[in-house]
Amino acid sequence: MAVAGQGTVKTRGDGASRDADGTAVPPVTSLDQTPNSHIADAIRRGAANPLGAPVTSIKGVGEKIADILQKLDLYTVEDLLTHYPRRYEDRSRFVQIADLKDGDTATIAGKVTAVENRPTKNRLVITKVSLEDDAKGVATLTWFNQWRMKQVFEKLVGKRLVAYGTVKRGYTAVELTQPEWEALDEGDESDSLSIGRIVPIYPATEGIGQNRLRKLVFAAVQQFADLATDPLPEAQRGDRALPRLPDALRGVHFPESLGQLENARRRLVYDELLTMQLLLAGRKMAQQQTSGIAFADALSPVAEFEQKLPFSLTRAQQRVLREIADDMASSHAMNRLVQGDVGSGKTAVAMGAMLIAVRNGYQAAMMAPTEILAEQHLRGIRAVLEAELGVRVDLLTGSRPAREKEAVRQRVASGETGIVVGTHALIQEGVSFARLGLAVIDEQHRFGVLQRAALTGKGASPDVLVMTATPIPRTLTLTVYGDLDVSVIDELPPGRKPIKTHWKRASDKTSVYEGVRKLLAEGRQAFVVCPLIEESEKMQARAATELASHLALHVFPEYKVGLLHGQIASEEKDSVMGQFRSGAVHLLVATTVIEVGVDVPNAVVMVIEDADRFGLAQLHQLRGRVGRGAHASFCILLADPKNPEGEERMRVLCETNDGFRIAEEDLRLRGPGEFYGVRQSGLPSLKIADVLRDMDILREARADAFALLAADPKLAKPEHRALRDGVIAKRRTVELVTAAQ
Ligand code: ADP
Ligand code: MG
Repeated sequence: MAVAGQGTVKTRGDGASRDADGTAVPPVTSLDQTPNSHIADAIRRGAANPLGAPVTSIKGVGEKIADILQKLDLYTVEDLLTHYPRRYEDRSRFVQIADLKDGDTATIAGKVTAVENRPTKNRLVITKVSLEDDAKGVATLTWFNQWRMKQVFEKLVGKRLVAYGTVKRGYTAVELTQPEWEALDEGDESDSLSIGRIVPIYPATEGIGQNRLRKLVFAAVQQFADLATDPLPEAQRGDRALPRLPDALRGVHFPESLGQLENARRRLVYDELLTMQLLLAGRKMAQQQTSGIAFADALSPVAEFEQKLPFSLTRAQQRVLREIADDMASSHAMNRLVQGDVGSGKTAVAMGAMLIAVRNGYQAAMMAPTEILAEQHLRGIRAVLEAELGVRVDLLTGSRPAREKEAVRQRVASGETGIVVGTHALIQEGVSFARLGLAVIDEQHRFGVLQRAALTGKGASPDVLVMTATPIPRTLTLTVYGDLDVSVIDELPPGRKPIKTHWKRASDKTSVYEGVRKLLAEGRQAFVVCPLIEESEKMQARAATELASHLALHVFPEYKVGLLHGQIASEEKDSVMGQFRSGAVHLLVATTVIEVGVDVPNAVVMVIEDADRFGLAQLHQLRGRVGRGAHASFCILLADPKNPEGEERMRVLCETNDGFRIAEEDLRLRGPGEFYGVRQSGLPSLKIADVLRDMDILREARADAFALLAADPKLAKPEHRALRDGVIAKRRTVELVTAAQ
């Protein structure tokens, strides 16, 4: 939020000049200054920003409250003004207790009439609080095993309180279990903040309750909201029919109607998303202006590659490869994300791109998150590009013998190596390239921002291709990858039979294993993924080992069982994978180390134990290890979910094989904050926008961001000054977040 100082507010000596009316006039700067001067500028302006003042400048806030507010990360007036309610309660009219229905979520108000503690068997305690409303309806509020509650409520007998929760209604009794509640102070009946209106409910913490917080925010709004100047040019605000910023701040905290709240929220969401999109659009435009390598011949290598490939590319692969070839031929640096569901054949597309680099006299590097995956890529790439087309392909991973690594590093440095495939070992210091032209990052969500940058930093503006099998809903693509071009492989190679997924209870295990035995008897192979143990790698390894020996000794004694987990030495991993690939091992017990990449077409069944412990995206990845050949494939989820959300996940997987749909569901169930890949993106979290719910506003903000930058690329016009400050501040946060990774 940008603010201009207005006469009455104290400012420190900050060096900014002043208009006659006392308005601070920050020096006009342009976006191409060095980052440090931007920051200095923003900080200087911050000092002149009345909303940047410490919370103690709010009337009635002293050091003691300031200390408590710190626990909520609230330091300045602006922090408090943007401490948005997490929900609202409509207390303009309370539902009478007598009218409550079973299953309702409701807010009730009444007097506390009695409090008692009831012991239960096993030495637990239930606290029951009786609440009577004006119409003499009585509800019981209950708490389990919270010994302090009785004391708390005894002091409140005869006082009024508000409770919010889910209603359980029997024939006569009405109960709210562990509701949220709030005591109304004496005189609060007339306190228009807590009752008789739509009331904001804030994220709170120990030592500061809703009442107090509400009063503080109210004081801050009264004293400071009008000092917030609008970063949006008037015309723009009008076009989008958004309220003024001070009105939006008032409306989001103390709305007079739901309509006002909706408008206020829309305005603040728009601001937040516009700033983010300006940042991303700015990056994207800068990248488009960065000159990269213009590969002179991007066409004939693709033709050459397609000829030698043992299968023909799907139409989707061809389209994506053409998009990549166009990027590579052009003189700006490519920054492209390829999204494709598991098994859609991203590797083949990457191989085509790498051949373009090599045939034009450059090198290509491909980085994968695990050694198993890197080795598998090596095998696939060698089979076509080395055996058929004479390109030197090398492998660089941490666990190869030192002498071999040294030899590879030398060949990469001299340019003898055309393509190098590897893990994080590729971005280590001793690795330098003669002429890196293309950097491919596979399963990019497994890498941090800095690791990606480290690989591209090994060349002079090489083209960059990042690939992901974790499809990201379109909306998130715009927020997380708004600075990348996106290609989607939305078609699977022909002849794939859809994987049949079944959800079974743990009690069905025996019959599930019998099913697996039948498939093994037909000459097929199987995976069993052991339950997820998050405590430690060691415990996870032990669980996998136990499961493997149990299966080998007691369930499948007639077959050979292999074991793969994170703590197995890499030669052994190689040998186990080799045996599984060749068919010598029939059943592979593994942890999520097999989540990415492993490609054994004869493996047709994937059993996942305690499947409800895994996230949706992860289960979809695991399932993607089967269904890679011509045989019918199965995924069996063994699960007794502990909650409805877990059941929902099992159902979604049984219903669909479509990674994009699963991603949408995952996002819906978990929320954007937890979504795979968002945290790694280095974007600061959003305070009010919800990219799912606010998709329409996101689209508007994105369009406006590009239009603004097209008209005024550096946001140098005076009316864009405040917007630019917001972007600079955001970029600064991004840099800090990224540096911390
Ligand atoms: P992912 O997109 O999950 O990385 P891969 O690149 O590993 O998928 O490809 C999965 C499998 O499909 C590999 O065995 C690959 O050889 C095969 N494949 C890829 N493209 C095609 C195609 N167009 N036709 C037939 N098989 C293909
Ligand atoms: Mg892949």
